[in-house]
Amino acid sequence: MMRTHDCGAIRSSDLGKRVTVAGWIRFSRDHGGVLFFDLADCHGTTQLVFDPEAMHDDADVEGLAEVLSAFGRESVIEATGIVRDRVPGTEDPRNPTGKIEVLIETARLLNSSKQIPFEVAEQKNSLLPGEDLRLKYRYLDLRRSQMISNLRFRHRFISCARRFLDENGYLEVETPLLTKSTPEGARDFLVPSRTFPGHFYALPQSPQLFKQLLMIGGVDRYYQIARCFRDEDSRADRQPEFTQLDIEMSFVEERDVQAAVEGILFDVWKCMFDTELKIPFPRVSFKDAMSKYGTDAPDVRFGLELVNVTDIVKDASYEVFKKIVGKGGVVICLNLKAHLLSSSLSEASAVGRKEVDRLIEWAKAQGIGGLTWMRVTEEGLSSNIVKYFSAEVRSRLMRAMDTELGDLLLFLGGSETQTRRAAGALRVKLARDIGLIDGKEHQFVWVVDCPMFKKDPVTGHLEPFHHPFVRPVKGDFDEDEDMSAVGGVSYDLCLDGAEIGSGSIRNHDPVVQRKVFNLLGMSDEEVENKFSFFLEALGYGAPPHGGIALGLDRLVSILLGCDSIRDVIAFPKNKRFQSLLDGSPSRIEDSKLSELQLLSLAEDEEDDGGSESG
Ligand code: ASP
Repeated sequence: MMRTHDCGAIRSSDLGKRVTVAGWIRFSRDHGGVLFFDLADCHGTTQLVFDPEAMHDDADVEGLAEVLSAFGRESVIEATGIVRDRVPGTEDPRNPTGKIEVLIETARLLNSSKQIPFEVAEQKNSLLPGEDLRLKYRYLDLRRSQMISNLRFRHRFISCARRFLDENGYLEVETPLLTKSTPEGARDFLVPSRTFPGHFYALPQSPQLFKQLLMIGGVDRYYQIARCFRDEDSRADRQPEFTQLDIEMSFVEERDVQAAVEGILFDVWKCMFDTELKIPFPRVSFKDAMSKYGTDAPDVRFGLELVNVTDIVKDASYEVFKKIVGKGGVVICLNLKAHLLSSSLSEASAVGRKEVDRLIEWAKAQGIGGLTWMRVTEEGLSSNIVKYFSAEVRSRLMRAMDTELGDLLLFLGGSETQTRRAAGALRVKLARDIGLIDGKEHQFVWVVDCPMFKKDPVTGHLEPFHHPFVRPVKGDFDEDEDMSAVGGVSYDLCLDGAEIGSGSIRNHDPVVQRKVFNLLGMSDEEVENKFSFFLEALGYGAPPHGGIALGLDRLVSILLGCDSIRDVIAFPKNKRFQSLLDGSPSRIEDSKLSELQLLSLAEDEEDDGGSESG
């Protein structure tokens, strides 16, 4: 071993010991010939000191000074010395090694560092350079204590989950990465085959088909920390490759899978935070989630539920609402209760025009027209539009919204889908603005009874709501029975307003599975071509089975309060799905393409794949 201690290990109990440490020079300073170095590694920081006065008479002080003079920022060094107390008043109470320092006796440079492109030492996030630069030099970014602690947290989360699964009879099985397509609603990343020119493997969008095949193979309980690949248009905070905790179980119903997930998370909480997670998690139907929260991934840490008041306001003479209702739209109302209003919005009775105007501006910026409001005063509802609402309509409104003095009612109107979504976003914005969300509180919720299919708004074709392998609620169908309107036995797990898991009970009946494929517009020939192997397998006594996958990147990043999932992935792609570190995607030489019998039609471009730098 090159070192006796890592940089976070030495304590006052080591006083007087001769130690050897190694790491990176994060800072150095010269106090009148006495040199101080902050030596860092992923475990912590130890202060080294070169103090000529304190050295033995026979020590080669000059020789050592010369060695130390080559210790630039982020150079990697090894030093041996004696542990001593820091001078009183210079201790650093925030640092576990902050009481001691190591008086250097010998040292050597293990490797020098070029000038670093950005500060690695601990600092405020706001002082960090642009993310592209951090990603280009990710290995330097990883030296930051925040990044190391993110990776460590992620590792602990996975190892706790893994331990639970191992102890509960789950078998960890690796499924192939070079596969046929596994549809999850995205494009496949394709890998050309050299041996079969013109043929391609697809990288798995998920291990879905293979985990189901494992159940047919009698594996019974499976899990995998699975890498998945989806070629989507780059959307906010997505990655083209990501990691799921993928699970599949035989002879189970919906509740069994949910209980298994609750068990895993309960155990992870116990092991990581020493707290008891409240299980079972609350459940909300997809329909209720959409109507109360305006989203299928609700944040249920606070109320502020949406209320559809279309049936009430349609009886008012307010033209704006009348028009909306006339076109088949909806009017959604939110009650900002007086007692919820913090000082940020001042006293309830004085939720000023200014704040309301600000909300209206916000709504406009989101593309949401027509945000209107009414205030509850001693005299009843008041605003510039109440004159269009009869006393009867007003009192129905007040009853529906359960109003009290000082409440503020906010109304949004328009087409149903858009208005619900907008009202959902407004709900979250208000909760954030008013401080209703405690960043340390987390709340899981199951969203159940999701539809099986959704309609493509342009083509009108049916698409799977999740993926095509979900079992319809009604288990069996006649050959010609219509199942397009049925629900699927599926469940999503949401955490603090983000979907972090999705699962279902599967079709184990090949007839139903074929029907689903056909409903999705696949001809028999296409089904044969893409899924005959799978339908064949279902025909050999496939057991009833179901499972789920939890998105680990997202889950961990929410728990850590990160702005982006990229902060919990060691080597993520940037927002354009480029790896700025290794320059991928990159062009392939013609000779390699011709080996694969491929031809590139792409023109030479300035902005070549991954060649962009920060
Ligand atoms: N394969 C699904 C997904 O990746 C998860 C599941 O249904 O188990 O979202």
